[in-house]
Amino acid sequence: MDGTFRPPEEAGARLIVDLGAIAANWRQLADLAAPAECAAVVKADAYGLGAAQVAPALWDAGARTFFVAQLAEARVLRPLLPDAVIYVLNGLTPGATAIVSELRARPVLGSLPEIGEWQAAGGGEAAIHVDTGMNRLGITLEEAFGVAERYSAGTLGFQPSLIMSHLACADEEAHPLTVRQIADFRKIVAAFGDVPASLANSSATIANPDARFDLCRPGIAVYGGNPVPWRDNPVRPVVRLEGRVVQVRDVPEGQGVGYGAAEMTKRPSRIAIVSVGYADGFLRAGGSSSLRTGAETIVRGQRCPLIGRISMDLLAVDVTDMPLGSVSRGDFACLLGDGITVDEVAGHAGTISYEMLTGLGARYARTYTI
Ligand SMILES: *Cc1c(COP(=O)(O)O)cnc(C)c1O
Repeated sequence: MDGTFRPPEEAGARLIVDLGAIAANWRQLADLAAPAECAAVVKADAYGLGAAQVAPALWDAGARTFFVAQLAEARVLRPLLPDAVIYVLNGLTPGATAIVSELRARPVLGSLPEIGEWQAAGGGEAAIHVDTGMNRLGITLEEAFGVAERYSAGTLGFQPSLIMSHLACADEEAHPLTVRQIADFRKIVAAFGDVPASLANSSATIANPDARFDLCRPGIAVYGGNPVPWRDNPVRPVVRLEGRVVQVRDVPEGQGVGYGAAEMTKRPSRIAIVSVGYADGFLRAGGSSSLRTGAETIVRGQRCPLIGRISMDLLAVDVTDMPLGSVSRGDFACLLGDGITVDEVAGHAGTISYEMLTGLGARYARTYTI
């Protein structure tokens, strides 16, 4: 988000972010995590919802430890949260030690060269990331035992404030890789003795007590996405998206609607054209065609399906079943909220809530409620 304020009458849609729900979700996770500490992952501008608003709300709810992906995100966060612990998940950029120190951030060191550079520069507290099976970031188990030995011998040169790893399959119920990752991580944690440990993302914080260790790192659940897809979402929805109806038109039976005439009217139809499109992050893949149904919207309290493809700035909603005259120009169609979840819309587009949230566009009139 670029931070520009858009008056609602100038924008095609309004996005309402419920900071109260974000705080409640975090508190629910913190209660589950206890006695472990509960951090908050606010990378990618707090999953697209606006770190400048979300991070202080989380601090007020009680969060004291925050995770971002990049140093630039720590720079945004630091003045907002002068006393927070801020970890940078993507690690130490070559030559960035001085900036990390200036921002009082803590890098999550994920390779031996990073550890070496941090040590040589006389860096302060930092996390050490151990790979237990994701094969993305982190030192190997063997390397970790070596680092633990140096730590025990007093030759590591800095204080590890956290030993962490990341689960690859936590969003699948009882996945065997999760069991193996927890077991391997336990051995590493034991080798580091008194250093606090962190493994759980949202899914594991909720569904896997064995993975909670000393610090949980939920992201998506704070923002209302379902971290346990095999059961009902335990957290509250956070975003509401309402697109403005630009016009309502009657279309005879047998006509194509939108680009490619991908969907034909099966009856004389009434179509509401709404001022939201894929440029707003309302993913094109969530559109409808004669071969597959797309996302749904709520117009005046009633579910109405999309009809035809989603274009850059517009989408079409089939409001034929609505009472005549009940939908008019200037009305709002609810695209997220009122029971339409981010997971549902993401599912129609063949993706996940994370991608949908982080892709929500910059053109909305954004409001934050508490
Ligand atoms: C993004 C991320 C998290 C948060 O994951 P969610 O599934 O959103 O809860 C935790 N740890 C690491 C290393 C991450 O990259």
